[in-house]
Amino acid sequence: MEYISTRGEAPVLNFEEVVLTGLARDGGLYVPKTWPQLSKDEIRALAGKSYAEVAAEVLQPFLGDCISPEDFREMTEKAYSSFSHKAVVPLSQLGANDFLMELYHGPTLAFKDVALQLLGLLYDHLLQRQGKKVTIVGATSGDTGSAAIEACRGRDAVDIFILHPAGRVSDVQRKQMTTVLDSNVHNIAVEGDFDDCQALVKAMFNDHDFRDQLGVSAVNSINWARVMAQIVYYFTTAVSLGGPDRKVSFSVPSGNFGDIYAGYCASKMGLPIDQLIVATNRNDILSRFFNSGEYIKEGVDPTISPSMDIQVSSNFERFLFDLYGRDAAAVRAMMSDLEEKGGFSVKMAQLNEATFSAGRSDEAETLSQISRTLEESDKLVDPHTAVGLNVAEKCRKDQTVPMVTLSTAHPAKFPAAVEKATKIHPELPERMADLFDREERLVQLPNDLATLQTYIKERARILSAT
Ligand SMILES: *Cc1c(COP(=O)(O)O)cnc(C)c1O
Repeated sequence: MEYISTRGEAPVLNFEEVVLTGLARDGGLYVPKTWPQLSKDEIRALAGKSYAEVAAEVLQPFLGDCISPEDFREMTEKAYSSFSHKAVVPLSQLGANDFLMELYHGPTLAFKDVALQLLGLLYDHLLQRQGKKVTIVGATSGDTGSAAIEACRGRDAVDIFILHPAGRVSDVQRKQMTTVLDSNVHNIAVEGDFDDCQALVKAMFNDHDFRDQLGVSAVNSINWARVMAQIVYYFTTAVSLGGPDRKVSFSVPSGNFGDIYAGYCASKMGLPIDQLIVATNRNDILSRFFNSGEYIKEGVDPTISPSMDIQVSSNFERFLFDLYGRDAAAVRAMMSDLEEKGGFSVKMAQLNEATFSAGRSDEAETLSQISRTLEESDKLVDPHTAVGLNVAEKCRKDQTVPMVTLSTAHPAKFPAAVEKATKIHPELPERMADLFDREERLVQLPNDLATLQTYIKERARILSAT
């Protein structure tokens, strides 16, 4: 499989190069040159297989000949053995035709583990083979950071630097990152918001000297391998609900558009999906886009679903590229309008052909959804999941099609909102019960590129080794 940049001005890469590179040199994102196809028979045959088996089968075409099927099968087995539920991504039922896809049974209790547990092993495998080291730099609004740290801790070939907005992640999220004391793990609280952190990471990627010197790599949702790993659960879920012979709809609590874009990829690969619902909180740039065709930046408003508090969605460009028939020049024009004029628009006719619907849930609606789900279905959900449930109800077109809401975090990750809505304090699972007693390590730095680069250079082992 070859990978091309959405801006058309970066070299074509293979899977191995794409995993280790992340963002393309022209500022674009890598996407597969073609969508591998699964026939209905092939999808049917996934029924009854383990999650790790399905992952190995569905993803193999994306690897080309970079990794042997045997090695990859071993990796998926190992990656998903770190989950506390045997089904890895189990389904639970909330109503006659309403389901929750529970994505939070991994080591850090959020859906990002599903992709990052695999990505950590991919890195290890590819780097060991090349005898190389990398420096991972990432920005997090909370969940990505802890999941990335869990995936990379203690690995010889990897140093990881994670930026989070100081004071703007939940205590549980911060503790999950800062109590990992492995010497290759560096937590940096940036004096700014998530978009500032993301802009710093982008700037470091666009500084080619810095990037080459340090072997900088990304585990952000811009890394293709992450999106790829997320495709799998759309297949396992659809198949367990009667797919491909029955269409299924998904409602996806969205921020950087990685999770729902993976659903779009699954549909491109042949999975019958009825609706893909983009669910946002009041930071609703995506919802406004799908309803008006206008993609216009606004400020970020902190919410009780902080992992979706974004101003622009980094993965969205991948979807635009397809929407414009893979016209890289059109993407470059839109992205420069976004940067210079703060927005761009597309024709609604074009958008209506996609399977997407979109809506938003404001803070009051999200809280009342948490309490309603507890009353009606005896299930405690986190605020991100509640956004998904609320918007699913608003956007659903056909009651006979199963509606699956992606439950992206365990309620104990966001105890304040859950307690406010229900008066119940959600308990951390046993294996994490002592989180608040563990020692923390982090530094706070100003929102300043040069300061940050110096800090990283002084600590990245790739420099001390040479
Ligand atoms: C990251 C995250 C999201 C948003 O996913 P995107 O891929 O960025 O759209 C939603 N919910 C939770 C709990 C998350 O951690």
